[in-house]
Amino acid sequence: MKGYVHSIQSLGAVDGPGLRSVVFLQGCALRCAYCHNPDTWEIPRAEGKTQASWEEYTPQELVRKLLRFKPYYGTDGGVTLSGGEPLLQADFTAEVFRLLKENGIHTALDTAGQIAGQKAEEVLKVTDLALVDLKFLTEEEYRAHTGGSRRRVAEFLELTRELRVPVWIRHVVVPGLTAFPDYLRQIKEQAEACENLEKIEWLPFHDLCKEKYERMGIPFPLADTPVMGEEEFGRLVDSL
Ligand code: SF4
Repeated sequence: MKGYVHSIQSLGAVDGPGLRSVVFLQGCALRCAYCHNPDTWEIPRAEGKTQASWEEYTPQELVRKLLRFKPYYGTDGGVTLSGGEPLLQADFTAEVFRLLKENGIHTALDTAGQIAGQKAEEVLKVTDLALVDLKFLTEEEYRAHTGGSRRRVAEFLELTRELRVPVWIRHVVVPGLTAFPDYLRQIKEQAEACENLEKIEWLPFHDLCKEKYERMGIPFPLADTPVMGEEEFGRLVDSL
């Protein structure tokens, strides 16, 4: 079995608890307006290799590499599989998580939650924490700004509940789209309705990816969206 890996961040502190290695898998079917990883979109095999580049790993090869960082994970940290969309490579993700857990390493799945069938179930059975973004409140908005389905996120969250996988809801706060107190309060309410919710994280929209889009010749839908200052963002989040 081979997996397609866009890149590996050896140690980071923002994608789950503690110090973690973050593996960005290649391929995503969504097109979120604020995505800062358009270079992970291209799906290996289905589209052929055009602009992006990735490396192939067997689960054993990847885990061998990650085990080098195990001493840094401490008691809270571990490994996060992100993307792209890790559930598009569900068999690979499940096997990597299984091997990590065999080695006593905490596993976090950073997903848009668009897949909720048997494949997702196999992954969630070996997942210690799911990081999920509700993104938008309605099906229409979700479809318009991501190309995906809000209903599928609800189905995925239901699966995490059934399998008792703790969830962090992470929400990118985008000026002009979601950065309104009432809107965010409703996101918060929906998040709090998940009985397996452990935490809500608010993430500020940033446009550091502009150059990446330019280099790739892809229009960035939010190129003219202003970035919120740290103070303004802090005030908004504190008011929720
Ligand atoms: S799901 Fe993630 S990787 Fe895919 S388009 Fe959205 S933000 Fe980008």
